[in-house]
Amino acid sequence: MERRMISICIPVYNEAESLPVAISSVEALFADKLAGYELEIVITDNASTDGTWAIASAFAATRPYVKAFRFSRNFGYQNSVFAGLSMATGDAVVELDADLEDPPRVITEFVERWEQGFDVVYGVRRKRHASFLMRILFRLFYKFLRLASSLDIPENSGDFRLLDRRVVNILKNLPERNLYLRGLVTYLGFRQTPVYYDRDPRVAGRSKFSLIHYMILAIDGVTAVSKTPLRVIAVIGFVIFCLSILLGIYYVRGALFYKVPIQGFTTLVVLMLMLHGLNFIFVGVIGEYLSRIFDDSKGRPRVVIAESINADNSRRSL
Ligand code: UDP
Ligand code: MG
Repeated sequence: MERRMISICIPVYNEAESLPVAISSVEALFADKLAGYELEIVITDNASTDGTWAIASAFAATRPYVKAFRFSRNFGYQNSVFAGLSMATGDAVVELDADLEDPPRVITEFVERWEQGFDVVYGVRRKRHASFLMRILFRLFYKFLRLASSLDIPENSGDFRLLDRRVVNILKNLPERNLYLRGLVTYLGFRQTPVYYDRDPRVAGRSKFSLIHYMILAIDGVTAVSKTPLRVIAVIGFVIFCLSILLGIYYVRGALFYKVPIQGFTTLVVLMLMLHGLNFIFVGVIGEYLSRIFDDSKGRPRVVIAESINADNSRRSL
């Protein structure tokens, strides 16, 4: 029987130190526990400025099963992961960060679950190495996300997961930009199961993500899976409108029947500032959705590939 192929997609940005470790760990895994499977490695380089591309090319030059793609600039993490998934050809596709915070040994468990018939096997971190404040923020975010969408998006789960070929085929044809992959994967459904694991420290280098990246990803997440913020705006607007009518009736009644002079400069200033503030927030929320429609309507590629090795087609864009 022909061996089934598993693709390991490794998105990299300035991972000159980690990438060789990542590749050799994956190879060790496929020489041992996963020896029954054919291996494909898809490296997507987000225009690294260190020696990462030279290393990726060197690996690809000596190994036909390593495909390497270098983008013309940094197109962001989610786009890189998406591009890797789209170019992978395996029967199952696994995303693995180069820093090995998500240990490759867990892939064995992913594959076992896949063999049991699951289409999506996603890693869930038992412990999260983040500051207390960040942990609270993450928690609140997931609570909100679940409340605001009808999707049960798993908490403490990143992009470390295995996808069956048929899920990848559907995913890679979804047209939306501003990706929030874990939301999309949950949205797609099929048979999904978690695998719990402990995260390791980074093998080398530093994290490329800052608080601002997490915030952008959070907004992408909410706008990708939920229309609730737009509805909340309408509800708040309606409530304020009703209150203002009641307040108006109250004042007019006072002036007509009880000769109470209409006054309250301070009240006016406070109300005005509050309403203006709310208005700006609302316009901002609408703008977030609008900007995503704008991005989708332009239909630009998610990434532009400048160089590639071992790909069938050396110059193409997704
Ligand atoms: N990465 C990427 N493009 C970027 C930033 C990061 O492809 O613009 C890669 C990075 O090389 C790593 C993975 O994405 O393999 C996760 O990044 P990192 O470990 O810095 O994020 P963290 O795990 O700290 O959230
Ligand atoms: Mg990392």
